[in-house]
Amino acid sequence: MTKGKKALQGEICAGEWLDINADPVHVKREREKARQLRSTDWWRAQLDKGVCHYCGGKFSREELTLDHIIPVSRGGRSVRSNCVPCCKQCNNDKKFYTPAERILANLFPEGNS
Ligand SMILES: [Zn+2]
Repeated sequence: MTKGKKALQGEICAGEWLDINADPVHVKREREKARQLRSTDWWRAQLDKGVCHYCGGKFSREELTLDHIIPVSRGGRSVRSNCVPCCKQCNNDKKFYTPAERILANLFPEGNS
């Protein structure tokens, strides 16, 4: 079990869904792909589960939005492994942070910059 999970993380780190060189063309293309993803059975199944990826709260499908774990504006891609259901509150809190930056922001909530 653990072994399989490690392998998956390795794949993700290898840049399968993370393109550092975000540019306007990338953003436009990935936003379009996200739109298509929202009309798939896969995404409907995510909404049916009704669970926010970040806070774990239960929400109706109207309250959930498609969120990119790595934001498109930061080079994230519209693939299933990077798209999760997210409640509006978490979506607002998250803004344009990457997961690593979110951890840092939680460690230093005062924002000592
Ligand atoms: Zn949430």
